[in-house]
Amino acid sequence: MSVLVCGGAGYIGSHNVRALLDRGEGVVVLDNLWTGHRESLPGSVPFYEGDVRDAALLDRILSEHPVESVIHFCACSLVGESVEQPLRYFNNNVYGMQVLLEAMERHGLDKIVFSSSAAVYGEPRRVPILEDDETAPTNPYGETKRTMERMMHWVGLRHGIRYVSLRYFNVAGAREDGSIGEDHRNETHLVPIILQVPLSRRTHVTVYGDDYPTPDGTCIRDYVHISDLADAHLRALDHLRAGGEGGIFNLGSGAGYSVREMIEAARAATGHAIPVEVGPRRAGDPARLVADSTRAREVLGWVPRVTRMEDIVATAWNWHRTHPNGYGG
Ligand code: NAD
Ligand code: UDP
Repeated sequence: MSVLVCGGAGYIGSHNVRALLDRGEGVVVLDNLWTGHRESLPGSVPFYEGDVRDAALLDRILSEHPVESVIHFCACSLVGESVEQPLRYFNNNVYGMQVLLEAMERHGLDKIVFSSSAAVYGEPRRVPILEDDETAPTNPYGETKRTMERMMHWVGLRHGIRYVSLRYFNVAGAREDGSIGEDHRNETHLVPIILQVPLSRRTHVTVYGDDYPTPDGTCIRDYVHISDLADAHLRALDHLRAGGEGGIFNLGSGAGYSVREMIEAARAATGHAIPVEVGPRRAGDPARLVADSTRAREVLGWVPRVTRMEDIVATAWNWHRTHPNGYGG
């Protein structure tokens, strides 16, 4: 039997594919390579270059492979872009989910694990954030993720599809052996941006605001290592396979680190000075986002293992320094 991994050539998807293969699972990947990389996947993995919104292609894949469950990573996921192009986000993310669920229904598939995001919460009323806290997205990206969750909920009630929606906080790091990692052409994430300094790609890091109501004035986030994230997906699959009730789970390590603390961790991991300039705030950035992941710990038995920021950044650095051009050679 196989797991269909939609968006499996992306940053998080490719790490999950490896984790599935490591424990002997069959895997089929569908990805349109908008932001993913064929090179991030072993050549032996069945790979379909195409779009999750292509119902005929899904029918073909599901008739050619004995798929029993789906992990869905496909999305447009840049917050700023989503504000500029909301309909592109609704089309790719929400309509993509609709086409996928319709195919699952046609082929009698009843298990899906989904990449949601802390962006569904918007500006939180309290931290740490619990799954049942209010969701009030402040941008179209977060709104699409919330809508996709609601779609799975209602379709699940009607058609018996069970879902686990994993609300990731800030994902960082790379596979420990340095073979795969993060390679986004339009990079916005803090950790890879910091590491562009020791790679001589930029002279300094711009800190987006140091006047937030936090101890050092910079934004606090909850960083979770990519391997721990992959482990949570395996556990979510096992949970659904064992007949467990689906639901929503926060995934964070439960501790918050400021932008300045992350830069300090990168200095320690790389041995590079990493100069900093303070710039204006980035629109829409909440001061503090930290997950309460108790539900994932209790229900899925998930315990994040790589929780020292220096260790998380070290794995990212191991990837970037050995692949300064990412998958481009
Ligand atoms: P990514 O862009 O590297 O991966 C997404 C993959 O989906 C890419 O390979 C892309 O080519 C593919 N894709 C997009 N639209 C598609 C379509 N219509 N058909 C087929 N393939 C398509 O992003 P990522 O950082 O790996 O994120 C994966 C998922 O996790 C996304 O859904 C994202 O919203 C979510 N997420 C990421 C983070 C993070 O910190 N990186 C945090 C929260 C949630
Ligand atoms: N950030 C920053 N400089 C950068 C990139 C990010 O100060 O060049 C900050 C950003 O304002 C946020 C934190 O780093 O407070 C994490 O940003 P990222 O884009 O990685 O993740 P987000 O929390 O927005 O999903």
